[in-house]
Amino acid sequence: MERETLEMDVVFVGAGPANLSGALHLARLIKTHNETVANGGAGEALGDIEIGVIEKGASVGAHILSGAVMDPKALRELIPDFVEQGAPLESPVNEDYFLYLTKTRAIRSPITPPPLKNHGYYIVSLNKLTAWLGEKCEEAGVNIFPEFPGADILYDENDAVVGVRTGDKGIDKEGKRKANFEPGVDLRAKVTVLGEGPRGSLTKQLVQRLGLDAGREPQVYSIGVKELWELPDDRYPAGRVTHTLGFPSDAQTYGGGWIYGMQNRILNLGYVTGLDYKDPLLDPHAEFQRFKTHPFLRKLLDGGKMIRYGAKTIAAGGYYAMPQIYADGVLLVGDCAGFLNSQRLKGIHSAIKSGMLAAEAIFAALVAKDYSAKQLQRYEQLVNESWIIPELRKVRNFHAGFKHGRWLGIMNTGFQFFTGGRSWGLFDRAKAHAGHEEMKKLAAYGYRGDNIEQRYDGLKFDGKVAFNKLTDVYHAAVGHSEDQPSHLHVLDTNICATRCAEEYGNPCQRFCPAAVYEMVEDSANGGRKLQVNFSNCVHCKTCDIMDPYQIINWVTPEGGGGPDYKGM
Ligand code: SF4
Repeated sequence: MERETLEMDVVFVGAGPANLSGALHLARLIKTHNETVANGGAGEALGDIEIGVIEKGASVGAHILSGAVMDPKALRELIPDFVEQGAPLESPVNEDYFLYLTKTRAIRSPITPPPLKNHGYYIVSLNKLTAWLGEKCEEAGVNIFPEFPGADILYDENDAVVGVRTGDKGIDKEGKRKANFEPGVDLRAKVTVLGEGPRGSLTKQLVQRLGLDAGREPQVYSIGVKELWELPDDRYPAGRVTHTLGFPSDAQTYGGGWIYGMQNRILNLGYVTGLDYKDPLLDPHAEFQRFKTHPFLRKLLDGGKMIRYGAKTIAAGGYYAMPQIYADGVLLVGDCAGFLNSQRLKGIHSAIKSGMLAAEAIFAALVAKDYSAKQLQRYEQLVNESWIIPELRKVRNFHAGFKHGRWLGIMNTGFQFFTGGRSWGLFDRAKAHAGHEEMKKLAAYGYRGDNIEQRYDGLKFDGKVAFNKLTDVYHAAVGHSEDQPSHLHVLDTNICATRCAEEYGNPCQRFCPAAVYEMVEDSANGGRKLQVNFSNCVHCKTCDIMDPYQIINWVTPEGGGGPDYKGM
């Protein structure tokens, strides 16, 4: 197939906060350098350097979802007067609460745990902040290409990355070309930066092919499921932050809730569940719905209206789970490199900073005209010398502590304040497994059959407080053309109706927060078969992570499809 080739200098894959910050910082470094040289300074001008950012969503920010309370320190480094420049901030954090929820009571902790103190930070819609960063990039001369998913990495004969191939458009569900067919473009670049967010599809390919995770612990993830509500009055002011522990998670499952007050009486609430849960009947979306049925939440939501929905995974493994973040011609930034601090529930600041440090390493590579791993290793040095690594090292054993349940996890967290993050024995990160390996089989968990009522008895999707997945998906404004190949590749569907049904009760039906996977009657052959409703997909990547047989491969769909997380 004839493909167009576009020669760029630097290509950033994914218009998230890390890559946009990187692209903006790089454009400015180059401009300053060229001006300095023009004014008689040392060195050689770099000339016009083409910087491109490709994005699978229909617009910058469309696929961006986070809580979010942002520590502004990195944004301040990137744009010192971000407030004056009109960064879209919902509110400074004015109040912090930490609640322990029993089934019926909300017990306020007299102290907010230090990692959850948020004074000086900002509640933001990461969708809006990212769109704003996109505008700053365009003002600085960066080319942004929405609706261009990165489908494949381009390598040379020595396995050096030399760019990225974008996805084809106009293929029908049988794999045939439609009238509007357009082949993807080969974007060739001196340096390619992957900033795809958690479990990036190209990052997964790259890490496996080049063995970038050799000697590292497996990455572990959580999933955050979120809604925005319009409240009828000022009962929960903008700037108030509440985190919760306890109900509805069982003590063996990592989980907790958040409630943030945004402008215009919008309540932002969600629930995080660790994707290393043991119960095969657990459903992260149902956990969130159950969270809202707690009397404290019911009262808070009374008379309100749910207006938006979304779900996204979080890379929670931290320091020990980070892959090598550079190779020939390529760098990894933000969540796909695992920069998130899961104890503080914060990753925007380190994503922005990682993008900026990548930009500095790329700038040095452009000056040296050397894009080898040896030169790009400078990025890792810069990361190690920055505040990112000391912050991550202090919490390096945080998530591992919860492997033995909530109470030992909390004990371990307290213990680490005194040890500077050191842990031994039970809590050591080195004993980590990939999350899907933690899921137990139905029988081992004591279940008879896969009747979800065994876990969620009494949960009613009443359409007032608790919503079923399809109602929520509608509020994620998801759109995918139905006439395209499914972007969810189930590599062996024979397992579904037999082994998986018996062993785990087809957990894809539960861990997917968008009702994509459904076991239906197989009228042709009798029995049941898997139906993949791919057009519902909100691109959270949970299935790629949590499938117990690791046979689900998430690849990019046609550009522009997916959720639209406006205001989320
Ligand atoms: Fe998330 Fe996979 Fe479901 Fe899509 S299909 S919403 S990526 S779990």
